[in-house]
Amino acid sequence: MSGINKLSQFSSMEYWSKTKVLLALRCIHAYRLYRSGVRGRKSVGMEYGKVVHSYVERVSKGELCYKDVPIRYRKPLFNYAKFLSENELSFPNFVEYEIGRDNSVDIGGRSFIGKIDAVWVRGSSGVLVDYKTGYRGKLLEDFEFELQLYSYMFKEVTGINIVRYGVVFLSSGVWDFKVNRGDYSVMYSYLEKLDSVMGSSGDVEYSDRCLDCVFRDVCNISLRHRYDILSKII
Ligand code: SF4
Repeated sequence: MSGINKLSQFSSMEYWSKTKVLLALRCIHAYRLYRSGVRGRKSVGMEYGKVVHSYVERVSKGELCYKDVPIRYRKPLFNYAKFLSENELSFPNFVEYEIGRDNSVDIGGRSFIGKIDAVWVRGSSGVLVDYKTGYRGKLLEDFEFELQLYSYMFKEVTGINIVRYGVVFLSSGVWDFKVNRGDYSVMYSYLEKLDSVMGSSGDVEYSDRCLDCVFRDVCNISLRHRYDILSKII
């Protein structure tokens, strides 16, 4: 825990999100690119996911009926409805609960912001859900980090204790839930790793992780690697 109490050189003026943490842990150079305003290549899956998220939100809020949703987006919605009914959850009290700059949460000297997909609240306790449209090999521990982070932030902002949290995979209809016993160890361990990454020299070399990196077409390290290969061939 001691590591996360250190203020890093970047922390004082900066707002952090789970995306930024995961990016910095994957590659500090990707984080630097993101921080300087560079955005990576968007995949078709990401675009599809955004549309599905918006339909789930609008149907959950009662702004849209299931039958008004285009057919290609209905299966994820059907899976979501099945998840709700099998877990005896009706309307969430919060759909897309946003923690922004005005109510950001301080954790270990860093200010965190984020968008939580949905929370059901009964009395002083709640169930927090993150829905995903696809599963593309992301570490399961990353989900745990995200869920612990959001549960912690939600409690800090609202005073409501998240007693269960989980992920629903909308394309397959599979979900995975856990009882939250106030254990935020994964969140803290990720933030400790972040402190160590931010405190390191930050030298980065080309590696296998570059192959599916969204920045590979704009990153100078990846481009230089491609150039070196080409110049050997030609
Ligand atoms: S292409 Fe490689 S070095 Fe460049 S940002 Fe991505 S992971 Fe980092």
